Amino acid sequence: MKITRYLIIGGGIAGTTSAETIRQNDKKNGIMMISDEPYRFYSRIMLSKPAFFLGKIPFDKIWLRTEEWYQENNIELLAGKKAIKLDSRNKIVFLDDGKEINYEKLLLAVGGYSRELEIIGSGKKGVLYLRNLNDAKTIMEAVKTAKKAVIIGGGFVGFEMCEMMRMAGVEVDLIIRENFFWEGVLDEAGSEIVENALRKNGIKIIRESEVKEITGEEKVDGVMLKSGERISADIALVSIGVFCPYNWVKDAGIKVGRGILANEYLETNIQDIWTAGDAAEFMDVITCESGYVGNWANAQLQGKIAGLNMIGGRQPFKFVSFCNSSGFGLNIAFIGDFKVGENREIISAVSVADNLYRRLIVKNNKIIGAILINKINEVTPIREMIEKGVDISNKIDKFKNLKRSIRLNNFNKF
Ligand SMILES: Cc1cc2nc3c(=O)[nH]c(=O)nc-3n(C[C@H](O)[C@H](O)[C@H](O)COP(=O)(O)OP(=O)(O)OC[C@H]3O[C@@H](n4cnc5c(N)ncnc54)[C@H](O)[C@@H]3O)c2cc1C
Repeated sequence: MKITRYLIIGGGIAGTTSAETIRQNDKKNGIMMISDEPYRFYSRIMLSKPAFFLGKIPFDKIWLRTEEWYQENNIELLAGKKAIKLDSRNKIVFLDDGKEINYEKLLLAVGGYSRELEIIGSGKKGVLYLRNLNDAKTIMEAVKTAKKAVIIGGGFVGFEMCEMMRMAGVEVDLIIRENFFWEGVLDEAGSEIVENALRKNGIKIIRESEVKEITGEEKVDGVMLKSGERISADIALVSIGVFCPYNWVKDAGIKVGRGILANEYLETNIQDIWTAGDAAEFMDVITCESGYVGNWANAQLQGKIAGLNMIGGRQPFKFVSFCNSSGFGLNIAFIGDFKVGENREIISAVSVADNLYRRLIVKNNKIIGAILINKINEVTPIREMIEKGVDISNKIDKFKNLKRSIRLNNFNKF
């Protein structure tokens, strides 16, 4: 049995940042990382960015750490190995190759996997997902010959895939279940801006539709919708969300909701086990609700905080997360907790003609989240307003005025 003081499961941004943070503060004790991907740390976000996908930047730009970095920092990376069982009482993690690792402090930074389509034909060649580097390599190969793609599902990655495909010269039909694109995240007017941009760039949006079957012999030749309509395609790109198989975590007595449950220190309910990144459902000290966030900046800072707490610190995680998606001339920013819900008010301002949109999510008169289209300069001031808990009760009308920019030096006067 291998023995280590710190064991980190997951070699993405959360896991790697935690290992780095631990090593900066503890030069002596062993750090071991397990990753079920056969690679060292790479940029997951680059996988859906056209510059990488179309080979406009060298492939090697994907790597965010060298092989030597692990050696120099005395971090043992077991790549291509999966943790399948946890005995939290005896502090042992079991791997799929039969190895056992005894730890003192454990971090679960296991991120997520693509949710798979479970319909007739979904195992055919040409049904593709985009979550990891192997997926990206497969898609890059497939677009060399594909002329037409259907994209199933319209999440963040689905939107970016639309642009990747169009830039690669592939025709795209986008199939969504909702009444309009990003329903639930945007309102209809905000969605119109995104849909207009998609259509203008040759994407056919098929709303309120579900795929019943993937057709073709061994390989995809199209999809059949529940309505009976058939759409031909050479590849089907599926983007219907992310999930994480938590059974082995639950079996060890760790509480799980949408993600692995943690307090504001990113500790789970079991002593000496922390979680961070996309996998964590943590107590958000800003909204005073449980938070579940899937973006890079959030995972990076959580990795750092978890690392500090694993070496004996006691730091709460407090962060207004954000991420951007650019495509078809739109820059879309997601800030903080932008979900709708009980006790949340929406303030929205839109100009479809100018492609401008501001949607603020307000709780107890304070902004807790926002979505912006082509208003990138407002990201920093809004994040700051969220962090400071600025009361906006007498400023609501002003936020509805798109001509008025929210700036750092004027939000107090707003
Ligand atoms: C295509 C794509 C584009 C994106 N673009 C953006 C963007 O532009 N901006 C942004 O902010 N965010 C973006 N994201 C989201 C961002 O990549 C994630 O939020 C971030 O990578 C989460 O990091 P993480 O370390 O928590 O998890 P992950 O990066 O998912 O890493 C977790 C790792 O753990 C491994 N693992 C899981 N279970 C086990 C196990 N049992 N044993 C061993 N290993 C295991 C997984 O395979 C994975 O390698 C994008 C995501 C994708 C897929």
